[in-house]
Amino acid sequence: MTQTTFATLGLAEDLQRALVAHKFSIPTPIQEQAIPALLAKRDLLGLAQTGSGKTAAFSLPLMQHLSAENVRSMAFGTRALILAPTRELALQIDEAIRTFGSQSRLRTVVIIGGASRFKQVEAMRRGADIVIGTPGRVCDLMQTRELNLSNVRQFVLDEADRMLDLGFIRDIRKIVAVLPAQRQSALFSATMPSEVATLANGLLRDPVRVEIERVEATAPKIDQTVYHLAISGKLPLLGRLLEDSALSRVIVFTRTKHGANKVCETLETAGHRANALHGNKSQPQREKALDQFRSGRARVLVATDIAARGIDVTGVTHVINYDVPVEPESYVHRIGRTARAGAAGHAITFCDGSERGTLRAIERLIGGPIPVAEGSGPPQPQTAPIDPRQNRNRGPKPNQGAKPAQGQRRPYVQRGVRSAA
Ligand code: AMP
Repeated sequence: MTQTTFATLGLAEDLQRALVAHKFSIPTPIQEQAIPALLAKRDLLGLAQTGSGKTAAFSLPLMQHLSAENVRSMAFGTRALILAPTRELALQIDEAIRTFGSQSRLRTVVIIGGASRFKQVEAMRRGADIVIGTPGRVCDLMQTRELNLSNVRQFVLDEADRMLDLGFIRDIRKIVAVLPAQRQSALFSATMPSEVATLANGLLRDPVRVEIERVEATAPKIDQTVYHLAISGKLPLLGRLLEDSALSRVIVFTRTKHGANKVCETLETAGHRANALHGNKSQPQREKALDQFRSGRARVLVATDIAARGIDVTGVTHVINYDVPVEPESYVHRIGRTARAGAAGHAITFCDGSERGTLRAIERLIGGPIPVAEGSGPPQPQTAPIDPRQNRNRGPKPNQGAKPAQGQRRPYVQRGVRSAA
């Protein structure tokens, strides 16, 4: 069987060169399936999550279509709109498009809250082929007529399930209402609760449906452990764990913004380079925190779930759940921040007495118990590490054993392309 390459998918040579330059040699499953469908101008429903390569899957065909139109960037002549649930994700998409499109003349503008509205409008005045934004600010500028979407031919709604979680549905409906009917649309979502299905039905025309689950060969190997302890023991334990230099790039998740600040301050007092990332931080503060973490200047990032959504930082060695996440699904999302790109990763969870019920719900969701750290808390019936590859012939796979809760992320397994109609 011949290996699929970006060339065989039908991508233009300038994009292929940019991909080679950035060491993207083999398309990921979502890219393999979505790129030909999008190049053929079909609408697309993509079930895939961050880490699957979905950004390139939608942005490469989008750039190819826009470049083929061969028109000059004009003031307010926006031809493509990409909506993302968080500012960080919007900035990451922008960065990816600039990277792949370095040979093209396409101009991007990011329209997000927490950043200068004036500068965004000015940038659009200079010409914005592609607008990447969060629904709130996009809707805002659209209503003041500072953003004209009447020329949009390409529309992408990324992380639709997160959009709905964050309460963006009304803004999305307002935006979609002004988009021209003659357009190509793609919707990506990690999960497909009924609200997302309804949104997709209203948005997409005879879409190709691509569903990607975690392929066993690339399933992250995450070594998971839980410590049972009193709430008062959490800060001291965190300090002790950080004495180990193997924890070189660490995300600590807390349930609340206040908790994130407290943990961060304590770590700084103890001499650790740490930054907090949560909803009360300004955009420049968030960007600084992420920059320092990415570059290794700060070893620890203390984040809340929402602030950390869509963040893609490679080389995270450890995720520490300082608080057990209230939503079991968040556990999977949190620990997926480590063990990126085939690297090994570690996830450590601190569980106090009041959190045991939630921990059990997480274990039901992932299909097995999380091994208890030596000498910590109540014994568990089974303490084998959870690794999808080990359970291959032993009934249901982890993440599939329990009946999936609504909104549960499924592991990546290629499901093939089919029309959703
Ligand atoms: P995404 O799911 O779009 O956030 O992508 C996850 C990560 O995978 C990003 O860091 C991308 O740069 C990287 N990536 C995406 N596609 C490929 C590919 N075909 N080869 C290598 N890395 C990739």
